[in-house]
Parts: sequence; C-alpha cells; structure tokens
Amino acid sequence: MHRRTKIIATLGPASSTPALIKDLIQAGIDLFRINFSHARSDDYKIWVETIRHISKAIGKEVGILGDLQGPKIRIRSFQEGSIVLKEGDHFILDAELSEHAGTSKKVGLTYKTLPQEVGRGDSLLVSDGRIELLVQKVKGKQIICKVSMGGILASRQGIHKKGGGVHVAPLTAEDKRNIHLAAHLSFDYLALSFPRSAQDLIKARKIMTVAQCSSALIAKVERQEALNSLDELIEASDGVMVARGDLGVEIGDAELPAVQKRIIHRARHFDRTVIIATQMMESMIENTTPTRAEVFDVANAAAEGVDAVLLSAETAVGKHPVKVIEAVHRICLGAERERATQVSSHRLEKTFVRIDQTIAMAAMYAANHASIKAIVTFTESGATPLLMSRINSPVPIFGFTRDLATVRKMTLYRDVIPIHLDFTHYNAVQLGERAIHELVKRKVVQMGDWIILTRGDIVGIHGGTNRIKIVRVGDALGA
Ligand code: PGA
Ligand code: MN
Repeated sequence: MHRRTKIIATLGPASSTPALIKDLIQAGIDLFRINFSHARSDDYKIWVETIRHISKAIGKEVGILGDLQGPKIRIRSFQEGSIVLKEGDHFILDAELSEHAGTSKKVGLTYKTLPQEVGRGDSLLVSDGRIELLVQKVKGKQIICKVSMGGILASRQGIHKKGGGVHVAPLTAEDKRNIHLAAHLSFDYLALSFPRSAQDLIKARKIMTVAQCSSALIAKVERQEALNSLDELIEASDGVMVARGDLGVEIGDAELPAVQKRIIHRARHFDRTVIIATQMMESMIENTTPTRAEVFDVANAAAEGVDAVLLSAETAVGKHPVKVIEAVHRICLGAERERATQVSSHRLEKTFVRIDQTIAMAAMYAANHASIKAIVTFTESGATPLLMSRINSPVPIFGFTRDLATVRKMTLYRDVIPIHLDFTHYNAVQLGERAIHELVKRKVVQMGDWIILTRGDIVGIHGGTNRIKIVRVGDALGA
C-alpha cells in the first residue's frame, strides 16, 4: 500500500545521527527539513552528505528542504538549554547579551533594535504564544518584563509583538548566505519565512538565480499580510506551507482552521504544492502515542489532499522520532481509504492552455472512470505528475525520470512515487516495457491489469508530454 500523503521531518539533535536518519527514512520519511536557524553551517553539510549517502545505500531517494529563517525575531540561547518562567516573575530581554549567556533572569535577542520598537504595556508572545511577557519598561538595550503566562522557555524561540508590526524585511544577510549554501549543497526545496507578498518571493528568486540555486521555492504563510494577497503569493511560489505556529500567533487560533482550508484549496487550484506544519504530533515530543486530537489533525490534512505534513520539534528534539513517523504513516493510510480523498470533479469547468496539462487531466479522467491500476508518466521536470496529483484519485502515479533532481522534487508531490530510470537510449517500446516490468516487480500490477502511460514524442523537452496510451499488462506494446 502506497501512502499518498508525504511526510517531512525536521532534523535536529534528536534525529541527526546516521543511525536515526536511516531509521527515519525506513519508517517512511519523504523529505527532511533543515532549519537554518538552529544549526551551524558545518552541520548542514554533514547532514546533507549523510542523508544522500544513506538514501543511496538503502535505495530510497528523499528530498531536502532548507528553511530560511527570514526576519524572525528570536531570543538567543540559554546556558542550560531552557529555563522555567512562572507567572509574576521578572524577566529581561537584553539586546546586548551574547549568544549562550541566557539565564533564568535574562536572555539575548537576535534583533538589536527591538528595545526601540516596544514600550510599556506591550505584550510579547514567545514560543508560538505559549509564554507571554508584559513590557514594564525599556532601559537602554534592556526590555524589562513581567511574566503574565509562564512555562518552559527553550533557547532560540521566536518572539512576536501582539498585533504585529515589528518584523524587519525578509531576506536578511543571513538568508542570502544560506541561499548560496543551499545552492552549493543542492537542496531540492527552499522555504522562505515570513514573506509579506509575491514581491518578497520575486526578490528571493532573483537572489537564487545569481546563486545558481535550482531549489523549488516554498512560501511559508505565517503573517497577516501574506493572507491579504494570498493568490498572488501562491502563484509566485512553487508551493506553500501553512506555518500554523507563527500564523496562529499573528491571526489568533480561532481563524486558523478556516485559513488552512482556504490555503489548501487555493494552492491546489493553482497547481502548487501545500505543506501543513506545526504541532501535528506535539504530544509525541514526550509520549509514545498521539492524542486523539492529533490523530484527527493529521487525518484531516491527508483527507483534504495536502502534499505533506511536516514534523518540527517532534523529530528535531522529541524523544520518539521514529514512533512519530510510524504514527503519521499509519494515520495517513487510514485517512486515505476515505472515499472523499478518491473522488474528483476533474475541473470540468476549465479550459486548458497547455498540451501537457490537457494530457494530465485526460489521464486522470480516464484513471478515475476506468479500471486503471496505475499511471506511468515519463517526465523531465516533474510537471506532468505534479498536474496529475492535483486531482483526487485512488490510482497511484509513478513518475519515471532520468534526472535525479526531478526524483527528489517529486518526493513532495502527493500520490506520486518517484522512480529514477535513465531512459535516454530507450525507444518507445522499450520505455513502456521497462516501466511495466518495474511495476510488476513492485507488485503494483499483474497480467491483464490496465495501465495509463504518458510521455512526450521527444526525450529531453520540459513540458513536452503529448501522448497518452492505455495498455494491458502482458500485451505487446507498439511505438
Ligand atoms: P517554523 O515555521 O517552524 O520555522 O517556525 C513553521 C510555523 O511557524 O508554524
Ligand atoms: Mn514559523
């Protein structure tokens, strides 16, 4: 049984050893997220090499998504890793304190001018809003606060001013450096944090072009401004992430579910990918099983047709990273058996302007209305399987490509199983035979089953898919 919804796990201290990376890939991870805000650049290089090495050894390619920190304002680190704050405590945010100097009395800030931008009475939300600090006064570079909602405060957590308004512009100097690093390490995806509008993405792409970075660009939707021109933002991206942590702090939790639904719907509408992030399996940071609410959250995302769910602290610092993946895997499979995830109205109202899109939609219509066991698509850029996977269907889509970068891009696409095959020197008959052989070997199809094949007339052309064929396994193939 193929899981249709993909799983992304954030790497961190709890998951970055070679043994754990291997266990996580075998448990079903499709992509790893590397968070540029939490590690050192030497670590990234080692992580990427380890992932590539292990996935090659076990024969399963995984994608790598780099997450650019953006202009997020964070506290710096504590000597002890974390502290406990109690309601009524006094606590100081000190812009002059150095990185690892935090104590239970004070901690540093990544944004030096925050003390100039807040004043008495402001409420500062830390750690996805779990901790609230009320500003009592500002003294030079120190913001003196009283804790109005306490809890455990870990190093490098984000800070928001309630009501917004203290974000610096995206694409900081550090982001620019990390874009170059991502290019150097061949990341498959880059996520941009806190974009305000399509303009920020266009700017990111310019920097990526200069850096010769071919990653696909994911826009993290995590501020109010991004929602104001959501369609433009989605169209300027290759995919979006519903970044519920920061977004929830900005817009309030009551708005979140409806906004998540809207983002999923619009992303699929524009043939873009969509990822759901934050607190999906939060209780499993400590526990070995999820809460019922978490089961429903993951299942709802899978049933609504998202490409992937993303784990953050659950796999980066949690106690049971492998159990988390096993749980998400099983919950998605259960949810995907629901009929709602398998029916589609096939965009009957739409007029298509591209040949590959027309072929992709025709294939999905056929797949959903005849007894088709699998779809095989020979692809250069992954565009055809992406278009196909925007349509709900119970039929798996096998994306055969000779380009390893395309294999890795397709790891994110819902319903798509990427397969690396160098078909450069195959003729049309050999191409079909080779793919069918692979599907028989994987026990996806057997003699007599129907399969849809799509390809282009000429190998090597992006967007060149112009053929669709239905074949029966075992019958002789023509050109
Ligand atoms: P983060 O983004 O994990 O980088 O903060 C996701 C979110 O805000 O939900
Ligand atoms: Mn965020």
